[in-house]
Amino acid sequence: MTFFEDTSINKTPISKIGEFRLIDHLTKDAKLKNKSTIKGIGDDTAVIDIGEKYQLFSKDLLIEGVHFDLTYTPLKHLGYKSVVVNISDVCSMNGIPKQIAVGIAVSNRFTIESLEELYLGIKLACEHYGVDLVGGDTTSSKTGLMISLSILGEVEKKKISYRSGAKANDLVVVSGDLGGAYLGLQILKREKNIFLENPTIQPELSSHDYVLQRQLKPEAGLKYIKILQKMNVVPSSMIDVSDGLSSELLHLSKASGVGVTIYEDKIPIDYTVMNLAQELNLNPFFCALNGGEDYELLFTISQKEYDKFKKDVDFTIIGYINDKKEGNNFIAKDGSIHQITAQGWDSTNSK
Ligand code: ADP
Ligand code: MG
Repeated sequence: MTFFEDTSINKTPISKIGEFRLIDHLTKDAKLKNKSTIKGIGDDTAVIDIGEKYQLFSKDLLIEGVHFDLTYTPLKHLGYKSVVVNISDVCSMNGIPKQIAVGIAVSNRFTIESLEELYLGIKLACEHYGVDLVGGDTTSSKTGLMISLSILGEVEKKKISYRSGAKANDLVVVSGDLGGAYLGLQILKREKNIFLENPTIQPELSSHDYVLQRQLKPEAGLKYIKILQKMNVVPSSMIDVSDGLSSELLHLSKASGVGVTIYEDKIPIDYTVMNLAQELNLNPFFCALNGGEDYELLFTISQKEYDKFKKDVDFTIIGYINDKKEGNNFIAKDGSIHQITAQGWDSTNSK
C-alpha cells in the first residue's frame, strides 16, 4: 500500500526476468557523459581514466537472510568476506585494490561488541590486502544487518582485462580449485537444521575445515594477479567466479562475442571436495559449475602463453575459446558434448 497509485499499465513481477535481465532492463538507456568514464555497467568494475592509470570502482550489497545467515556466520568472518568479495571484483580486472568505504544498516538487535567483531574482520582484510578503509555510512535498519561496500582500485592502462577480450583459440584458465564454498554452505545448512531441531546438539564442523574456510573466509585472487604480473601475462579477458563456473563462462563468452569449450576432467577440484561431495551424494563437478562463491579467477590467455601455464600449480587450463556459432560446450568425461547453461550443463541437450 502506498499513497501513490502505481499508474503503469503493465505490472510485471521481478521474478519473470531474473537478476541479469533486470539490470539490463533498468540501465539500458544510461548514457555515459564523461570522457573519463572508460567502462560503465557490464564488467566486474567500472573503469575511470585518472591520467597515468585507470581507476576501478565497484560496489556490493550484502543482506542478512539473503547473502548471509548469522546462525552460522561469525561476524568477524562476515566482515572479512564483505571486503574480499569487493577485492575479488578489482582483481578480476587485473587490478590492485586500494580503498574501501563501508556502509552498514543495523537493527537494535546488535550490540556494540558484535559490531566491533564485524569491524575486526573488515580491518583484518584491509590489512591482509593492503587496502585503506576511507569512509562509509551508518544507519539503522528494521529488518537486520545490511553491508554495502564500495571499492576503488588501480591498474596500468595496458594491463587491464575486461570480460570482453576473449578471442577464438585462446585458452581458458582458472585459478585454485572450485566447488568448496558450495559444499561448505551445505555443511553449515545441515548443521543448522540439526541444531534447530535439537539445540543441545553441538554442530559437527571439525572435520570440514577446508570447505568451511572456503565458504566463511574466502580469499580474493590478489596473489594470482601478482603471479600473472611476474609471469608477464595479461589475460585477454577475466572475470571472478562468484556465481559458479557455468554462469561466469557464459558472461565471458557473451561479453566477448565468442563461444567456449571446457572439459569436465580438467576442472580443478580439491580432493577433500571430491570426497565430501561423494559423502553428501552430490556431483562434485555440479558443485563447481553451479555452486559459486569460490572467488577464483577465470580468464583467457593467448595460446602462445601455453608453456608458462602448463606446469604452473596455481592455474589450470580447462578449455579453449571457439567461434560464437559453435556455442558454449561442456565435454563430459565420457566424451559426450553438452551445452553449458547458467545452471551448469543441460544434460537433456546433448549434441
Ligand atoms: P558482480 O557479480 O561482478 O558483482 P553484478 O552481476 O552484480 O557483478 O553486476 C553486473 C554489472 O551490472 C556490473 O557492471 C554492475 O556495476 C552493474 N549493476 C548491477 N546492479 C546495478 C544497478 N542496480 N544499477 C546499475 N548498475 C548495476
Ligand atoms: Mg564479479
